[in-house]
Amino acid sequence: MSQNSKDLEQLRDQLDDINMKLLSLLSERAVIAQEIGIVKQKQGIPKYDPVREREMLEELVQHNEGPFEDSTVKHLFKQIFKASLDLQQEDHKKILLVSRKKQQENTIVHVKGVEIGGSAQVMIAGPCSVESYDQLKTVGTALKDAGIRVMRGGAFKPRTSPYDFQGLGIEGLKLLKQVADELDMVTVSEIVHPGHIELAANYIDIIQIGARNMQNFELLKAAGQVGVPIVLKRGLSATIEELILAAEYIVAGGNPNVILIERGIRTYEKWTRNTLDISAVPILKQETHLPVLVDVTHSTGRKDILVPCAKAALAAGADGVMVEVHPDPATALSDAQQQLNIEQFHDFWHRVKSSGLFKEQ
Ligand code: PEP
Ligand code: MN
Repeated sequence: MSQNSKDLEQLRDQLDDINMKLLSLLSERAVIAQEIGIVKQKQGIPKYDPVREREMLEELVQHNEGPFEDSTVKHLFKQIFKASLDLQQEDHKKILLVSRKKQQENTIVHVKGVEIGGSAQVMIAGPCSVESYDQLKTVGTALKDAGIRVMRGGAFKPRTSPYDFQGLGIEGLKLLKQVADELDMVTVSEIVHPGHIELAANYIDIIQIGARNMQNFELLKAAGQVGVPIVLKRGLSATIEELILAAEYIVAGGNPNVILIERGIRTYEKWTRNTLDISAVPILKQETHLPVLVDVTHSTGRKDILVPCAKAALAAGADGVMVEVHPDPATALSDAQQQLNIEQFHDFWHRVKSSGLFKEQ
């Protein structure tokens, strides 16, 4: 072996040695970074601290004696900082709380003796908007007689036009409570303002966050602060991932009782109000442990295909179906075109049940 080869080998040995030392130091640094991550998590401090990062880089550059350029030193250390930050955030970023990987078993939401997400499926029915005591009582009685305990009705209506009926507001929530108390029913109603989340819990059993508010992050955070179950609808143009991340906001905030609803998405198709994305059902069931429902009314916007769509939803693994029912749809103050009257609802319910696809409580 020539002298040159020997020198090269020796130098390489030295490098290998330094690599091992660097690795050991990097690992030691990473463990400390993880500990800092835990402390920050406990104190609710953001993991990323750009000011501290700049200070560390300045300090390093001041001590740089070469031969690396300052910019190279900065670049190398930024990589190290980034890897440490990833390590701190790894748990939350890679495995979401709503993910099936995080929790293998299904989340079952229990409300006044009704189970959502358990072995049975649920039918949620009721008017688009709460309009009067008589209207609610009529629908509620018909539902109760049909063996259905969960009634929907909007009090705060997010309408496309500001000139359309905006809902009865708190008055509507009070009517829901009155009828629910009289008939021993479970109620679902949409809340659109973060400030109303806590108050709503006094009147209704399940808070709906509607499609238009799926990414209203302040509303999602407020929903995370209460124990009331939240039914979260997929946004008009939201991807499945965006729906899952919206649900994560609520669960990460401290409320594990989240139910997802596929309610159709915007596509170029005009023969339905929205396009029912049936594939979202098995994907959401696979990816998350949350109950998944399908709103057949808002997804289709038409009454003539509700039965096959409900059957498809149930066959795809949905934990239940939502449908709009009004005693006199022609005079309804919202969604008059798409609501079933009570007779039509009975027919719908009968056909869904006799399909054998609906597992009853
Ligand atoms: C509703 O369920 O009353 C409603 C407005 O639905 P979406 O948010 O899905 O449009
Ligand atoms: Mn409606």
